[in-house]
Amino acid sequence: MSKLKIAIQKSGRLSEKSLDLLKECGIKLPNGDRKLKTEAKNFPIEILYLRDDDIPQYVEQGVADVGILGENEVHEKGKNVLQIKKLGFANCKLALAIPKDEEYNGINWFENKKIATSYPKILEKFFKEKAIAVEVEEISGSVEIATGIGLANAIFDIVSTGSTLIMNGLKEVEVVMKSEAVLIANPNLNNLKKEILNQLIFRITAVRNASENKYILLNAPNSAIDQISKVLPGMKSPTILPLADKSWSSLHSVVKEDEFWDIIGQLKELGAQGILVVPIEKMII
Ligand code: ATP
Ligand code: MG
Repeated sequence: MSKLKIAIQKSGRLSEKSLDLLKECGIKLPNGDRKLKTEAKNFPIEILYLRDDDIPQYVEQGVADVGILGENEVHEKGKNVLQIKKLGFANCKLALAIPKDEEYNGINWFENKKIATSYPKILEKFFKEKAIAVEVEEISGSVEIATGIGLANAIFDIVSTGSTLIMNGLKEVEVVMKSEAVLIANPNLNNLKKEILNQLIFRITAVRNASENKYILLNAPNSAIDQISKVLPGMKSPTILPLADKSWSSLHSVVKEDEFWDIIGQLKELGAQGILVVPIEKMII
């Protein structure tokens, strides 16, 4: 039987989270050493462990059918692959940074400057669209030291917390793109593989929805149920169950984690008590 070949990063920032995602999707992989490839025990997929730089090319060529990698790498490589779904991890941004003592008064600062980066294509496209001439110096690693050693006037690199920039006497001045891990696919999959991919997407969606949402339970006096129901966003209207004390009820609903923090104050003001917020394992909408 045909299997869907999925490429993930062999070792690096994406590896563990990619495997965790497959695990949360109920896909069981054999324990032990990570070889070049492994087969799932209970789902028709085969995992290929590769360098993330190579994944777009392999997916384009059909060596792998789908792959998990950072959007930044997908854009940089510019291969003919479909971007199927954002996966919500490995969030970072690609930013321009300059020595901290430089005065910066806008993007024209970069005119005729030399910029060191591992992402030359994304950078060239950015400045071409702005019609600003720059010199791009491609280097493969340790981009952040390029200004300190006199290789370039500025750098263009991945920034997450910004501490690496500070350590190297740099300041971020422009964000060029935001990135997170994505699922990409070869555009010409056969029907059987498309079917497996759809099942995988269905599971990933359920896992992603679950991680963004929480199940909320609270007790409320019956007189407050209408108002509290309006505040609770929920998938539908909340479930209402009677409590032993007849003048009180228990309300259950699903809320987005970030929305929850916005409404907690209102819920308490309306008389809600014993508020519980619990994680959801899977969520099918
Ligand atoms: P490989 O050896 O496979 O080529 P790599 O050194 O290119 O690995 P990693 O450093 O493991 O890559 O990063 C992989 C991806 O993780 C990056 O392309 C980016 O999308 C994301 N990433 C990188 N740095 C960070 C960070 N500091 N915070 C969050 N995500 C990041
Ligand atoms: Mg790489």
